[in-house]
Amino acid sequence: MMDLLSLEFMRNSLIAAVLVGASAPLVGVFLVQRGMSLIGDGMGHMALAGVGVGVLTQTSPVLAALVVVIVAAVAIELLRHFGSTSGDLALAVMFYGGIAAGVVILARAPQGSSTNLQGYLFGALNTVSRNDLIAFAVLAGVVLVTVLLLRERLFAVAQDEEYAKASGLPVLATNVLLAVLTGVTVVISMRVIGLLLISALMILPNATGQRLGRSFRSSLVWAVAVGLATSVGGVVTSFYGDTPSGATIVLLAIAAFITSAVGAWLVHLIGRTQHTSAENHEHVHWEDCGHEAVLHDDHVDYVHDGHRHAEHGDHRGEHAPGREDPHSTFEGSHR
Ligand SMILES: [Zn+2]
Ligand SMILES: [Zn+2]
Ligand SMILES: [Zn+2]
Ligand SMILES: [Zn+2]
Repeated sequence: MMDLLSLEFMRNSLIAAVLVGASAPLVGVFLVQRGMSLIGDGMGHMALAGVGVGVLTQTSPVLAALVVVIVAAVAIELLRHFGSTSGDLALAVMFYGGIAAGVVILARAPQGSSTNLQGYLFGALNTVSRNDLIAFAVLAGVVLVTVLLLRERLFAVAQDEEYAKASGLPVLATNVLLAVLTGVTVVISMRVIGLLLISALMILPNATGQRLGRSFRSSLVWAVAVGLATSVGGVVTSFYGDTPSGATIVLLAIAAFITSAVGAWLVHLIGRTQHTSAENHEHVHWEDCGHEAVLHDDHVDYVHDGHRHAEHGDHRGEHAPGREDPHSTFEGSHR
């Protein structure tokens, strides 16, 4: 571990990994909730055009990418808000245009080479400079504070736009803000994970968190923990294994997701055999089956002979009011 920490670019990379590992899941959770998981991917494509301009003009690629993603974020949300059905096509044109322009501009740039193109797309640890790190720290700070302060509004708008609008929340402004946060996170990821892979770190830790936590909040805490563990773990693995950092981080995040999914499934199997299965009866409870139906969290229990039964898949659970529902305990909630 000492040889790793004695190298300046590795110290920088580890700090950058912490910044992006915490930011990406925090922003991504609202994208997942909105059903817009892949918007971060599009932003990564756009950011490459900014990188190209930065390299060509010999200014900062990080700064130029930041300007481009912020403009793109506003444009995307305005397009979604005021645009027609062809908005989807317009997004595709923006995204592919962004990456194509980036590749062309980088190829024309004096210090442009296929090596640093690959670095921007998939991450390259030895490129994390001190100036980058300062910029990343400021940007990550902005992301964390904004999400923390506006989490309730972000949640409400991502959950149900119509309802949020009806309750007087500034829906368009909130969506623009979320898009800008997404773009900023893409920029923070630029050195360690890369523009083509960052979206994975916004999505996968949240998919994992949803299997580990029981509420929005605890799922998010898990997601950030997984994001941090996989990004820092990926940087360390990539150093010792001499593998590209971004791809290593994404593979670790996928491994964490598969492990959590299999784990949740096993726990449910155990839970199934442990939770009291109701006595067998041929009758299948359904709407209007004649028994009183009671809403119990996310499902319906049927009351007869002094107990409550819930139909669930191939078995019937004995549910009692006030007792924690065995299904919701083991699976979060099942729909
Ligand atoms: Zn019945
Ligand atoms: Zn029954
Ligand atoms: Zn129940
Ligand atoms: Zn069950």
